[in-house]
Amino acid sequence: MNKALQLKDFDPEVYQAIQKETERQNQKLELIASENFVSVQVLQAMGQVMTNKYAEGYPAKRYYGGCEFVDIAEDLARERAKKLFNADYANVQPHSGSQANMAAYFSYIKYGDKVMGMDLSHGGHLTHGSPVNFSGRFFNMIHYGVDKSGYIDMNQVEKIVLKERPKLIITGASAYSREIDYKAFREIADKVNAKLMSDIAHPAGLIAAGLIKSPLEHCHFVTTTTHKTLRGPRGGMILIGKDGENDLGIKTPKGRTKLFSEIVDSNVFPGFQGGPLMHVIAAKAVAFKEALQDDFVEYSRQVIKNAKALAKALQDRNYNIVSGGTDTHLMLVDLRNHGLTGKESEKALEQAGITVNKNMVPFDDQSPFVTSGIRVGTPALTTRGMKEEEMTQIAEMIDRVLLDINNDSVKTKVKNQVIELCDRFPLYKM
Ligand SMILES: *Cc1c(COP(=O)(O)O)cnc(C)c1O
Repeated sequence: MNKALQLKDFDPEVYQAIQKETERQNQKLELIASENFVSVQVLQAMGQVMTNKYAEGYPAKRYYGGCEFVDIAEDLARERAKKLFNADYANVQPHSGSQANMAAYFSYIKYGDKVMGMDLSHGGHLTHGSPVNFSGRFFNMIHYGVDKSGYIDMNQVEKIVLKERPKLIITGASAYSREIDYKAFREIADKVNAKLMSDIAHPAGLIAAGLIKSPLEHCHFVTTTTHKTLRGPRGGMILIGKDGENDLGIKTPKGRTKLFSEIVDSNVFPGFQGGPLMHVIAAKAVAFKEALQDDFVEYSRQVIKNAKALAKALQDRNYNIVSGGTDTHLMLVDLRNHGLTGKESEKALEQAGITVNKNMVPFDDQSPFVTSGIRVGTPALTTRGMKEEEMTQIAEMIDRVLLDINNDSVKTKVKNQVIELCDRFPLYKM
């Protein structure tokens, strides 16, 4: 084994790529709503020897010896997650949000069952029933969406549910800027005895901070990622607000009715995954500790303030924000009144040092590869310490680029402005 040979010396190609990526993160304006910057402590917890450990199973119930220290990390992660979300149960092993959804769905429903999720083009996620995803292939998917106002139409939801009688209703989205009425969803779900879940991958941090409504008390189960507003390492998690005996007739070999948490546990492992990523679970524990501090609430409050400020500044410049604004960390900008597509706008902004993603808007007439909108969010910029004043400045820069989308000298000027702004809010040391 190479002793103490630094990465830089052993593998300069990978090392350089990491350096370049660090530089990119430092010098561009990150407005992708699903991204954030973890702390140095979280990075440290991820880059350590727990990656070497096989720990199939759960703390104190492992298939391998030598798990006493990784058990400490996983127990801390689980306990902190439960505290953060006021949940009876947390499973911190899913490798990603999609894996969390897969394991969770199959804990409550079967292959071929009817499931209702939010339409992808209205803000839903691939795992909420897209035909190119396992969810769309394994389940009989039906969809709900927003109305012309850009809000979820609860009357439409109720109508579809009563007619179609799905076994599972998925709430949550990747590009919906408004609060979700989980209580109303639960009342509708109960009418047809459907299970209700929420996928809080996006707003998890805002929910943990107590700034927007929590679905935990209304949903049978909740899934999330840990790397978006929650600002932890890349990964997933499954939560249950109120655990109890299952009503699906699932028993242990000895004939005892299983708890829902036991079903989910065995579905994550051995159902859908092998060994957990213990280094990532350690980093989740650290991120959850951070999220339990008062300054995380302050951070999250600023994320929302910044999103509202950015939405307002864009509206002042004649950009249409879907639903007219935001309650959360993100918004969808409908560019049709400017005669622009999401694709060309994303590209032009990228050239000016501003990173966003193209996104379908409700009732879009463009394909998913072109789109009529962009999605922007404030979690990452807020982590750098930016506030409302900078959001107004950024809206101005976005406007300058988009108004003169083929003008390269404008892009160069904005790019220099971006670097100046980034230098005032330093991120990682190289
Ligand atoms: C991001 C996201 C996910 C998927 O997370 P991955 O970690 O990328 O698999 C799932 N659901 C929603 C709503 C998301 O926004």
